[in-house]
Amino acid sequence: MSTAQDGLRPLREVIAGHGLHARKSLGQNFLLDLNLTSKIARRAGDLSRCDVLEIGPGPGGLTRALLMEGARKVVAIERDERCLPALAEIGAAYPDRLEVLSGDALEIDPLDHLTPPVRVVANLPYNVGTELLVRWLTPKDWPPYWQSLTLMFQKEVAQRIVAAPGSKAYGRLSVLAQWRTEARIAFELPPRAFTPPPKVTSAVVHLERLEQPRFPANAKNLSRVVALAFGQRRKMLRASLKSLGPDMESKIAAAGIDPTKRAEQLSIEDFCNLSNSLLPD
Ligand code: SAM
Repeated sequence: MSTAQDGLRPLREVIAGHGLHARKSLGQNFLLDLNLTSKIARRAGDLSRCDVLEIGPGPGGLTRALLMEGARKVVAIERDERCLPALAEIGAAYPDRLEVLSGDALEIDPLDHLTPPVRVVANLPYNVGTELLVRWLTPKDWPPYWQSLTLMFQKEVAQRIVAAPGSKAYGRLSVLAQWRTEARIAFELPPRAFTPPPKVTSAVVHLERLEQPRFPANAKNLSRVVALAFGQRRKMLRASLKSLGPDMESKIAAAGIDPTKRAEQLSIEDFCNLSNSLLPD
């Protein structure tokens, strides 16, 4: 029997041995190259004094890399029960360092299982990834329990996260991410890096939390204003924000912003000012 660099079975054998054929409904595109998953794990930063929260470990390619790179402990949430025996084999090779929570990451709160500092690392289906990213970025209190997020996205989504005002990709994700984190695209991955290959190019994004948001604002209110403004991104703010109340044109002007501007012309500071002024706490 052949072994990989961590002494465990190569991922192709794990997948064949446990009958883990990829399910499209669960967004399963697996990374089988441990050199690649190690590259992602290293981009997350020094893991040796951190707990890592991994979402969607699947057969465990990234999980193994996180453990090989020295993570103090990995807490992994996986929805597909077929993957649990493969993950148990990894747990046996790294005693007391892997805890698997079986279920939907959108439903499970892993906080009780983690000791700070925590880094989050995931190769997730894109829809779940975006929803989780927004939740991680918009807790009421800041700083959050996590130090950084290292996440795989469709390249287009990654570009939205790091986009600057005025660009086509600038939108809700750009404002929410850059308001409270330093966000960078780490590297891209071609479809052939995955099994089975997806249709699009992917990119790993690394977000390092700021200790304080760049500008003061209430996360819930800011989220609401930004979602409305970009929900109709071609319209002027006085139209796209109409549902927030009467006299919107003069209220936007009173916040120091030209109500005939469109969402993509506003900086993050503008959005914070607008939110504080239109929806005071
Ligand atoms: N991390 C593995 C890798 O890199 O090879 C698997 C990546 S695959 C793109 C996404 C994984 O997320 C699958 O194992 C899938 O079962 C799991 N998943 C999908 N939706 C999930 C959810 N809501 N909660 C937890 N895991 C989920």
